[in-house]
Amino acid sequence: MDYIKSKVRDVIDFPTKGVVFKDLTTVFKDPKALHIIGDELAALYKDKGVTKVVGIESRGFIGGSILAYEIGAGFVPARKPGKLPADTIRMEYAKEYGTDVIEIHRDAIGPDDIVVLHDDVLATGGTMAAAYKLVASLKPKKIYVNFIIELSMLGGRAALPADVDVTSLITY
Ligand code: AMP
Repeated sequence: MDYIKSKVRDVIDFPTKGVVFKDLTTVFKDPKALHIIGDELAALYKDKGVTKVVGIESRGFIGGSILAYEIGAGFVPARKPGKLPADTIRMEYAKEYGTDVIEIHRDAIGPDDIVVLHDDVLATGGTMAAAYKLVASLKPKKIYVNFIIELSMLGGRAALPADVDVTSLITY
């Protein structure tokens, strides 16, 4: 994991002053790092009977697709409002300034599914908590939650129900 860590780029004051943005484009563009991400994510979930990986727009699409491919699961996008073409369900959630909405196709997940919800970075957890509620409303058998990076000082895990199985490849 040290190799991955060495490829993460810290961008100071992005998107706003005071934020240290963990930029993973420098991980994904490195063939060896990309390969390690795939191997490590697959190792976490290959024996869990996962049928669908839900990736959160947009940075969660990258690791989510790789994970789905590696473990032989399907990929489902959770998207910003108005992007998905068919019948959707939605969840509104509070952001630092105002609210945001996340959507998923109503027929994307069913009662026989075992789901991994994936995003690149866990910060305050608001986005993942909304995605979790959205997917839970479709009543799959089980929902796992995964991140490549967890910013533990922001306490994002507390935004998720205490009994949810959460993993992160790298914790700061
Ligand atoms: P959260 O506060 O956990 O709801 O994070 C919202 C979204 O913004 C997540 O999808 C993260 O990918 C992204 N994000 C938040 N803070 C950071 C950060 N410091 N570095 C990189 N991505 C971030």
